[in-house]
Amino acid sequence: MIRRFSRKGPTFQMERDFWSKEFYCSCGFCMDQLVDTDLVLQLQMLRDELKQSIRIKSGYRCERHNEQLIAQGLKASKKSQHLQGKAADISVVGYSGPQLYEKAKKFFKAIGVGSGWIHVDTRPERLIWFYDGLTADDLV
Ligand SMILES: [Zn+2]
Ligand SMILES: [Zn+2]
Repeated sequence: MIRRFSRKGPTFQMERDFWSKEFYCSCGFCMDQLVDTDLVLQLQMLRDELKQSIRIKSGYRCERHNEQLIAQGLKASKKSQHLQGKAADISVVGYSGPQLYEKAKKFFKAIGVGSGWIHVDTRPERLIWFYDGLTADDLV
């Protein structure tokens, strides 16, 4: 279920270790924020397995912020799952992207692997892709 929050409203605890605010668009301006409750639930399951906090580098993205990222040449897609609140880019202290992928694949089917982070989203089909020049050979 996609929940909609206002940036001006109070922050909500969505799961034990995750608050709505952590997923807000980093542009800092857009008002409506979308967060998929399944995304947060799956992140909590991963967090419980790791017993370590997960940093949300990027959660929801508004159209404008996504356009800006594309214009800057960053890895953002025009049909990014971030636009629907269904994706998060995450990092965990002490884990490389490939190491994090090994843990996350139990809870997520769609995963993009970067060098020190991964992208996860709630699409139901098994998808894997790479950032930062990594390839399948870099998986542990
Ligand atoms: Zn925004
Ligand atoms: Zn992403």
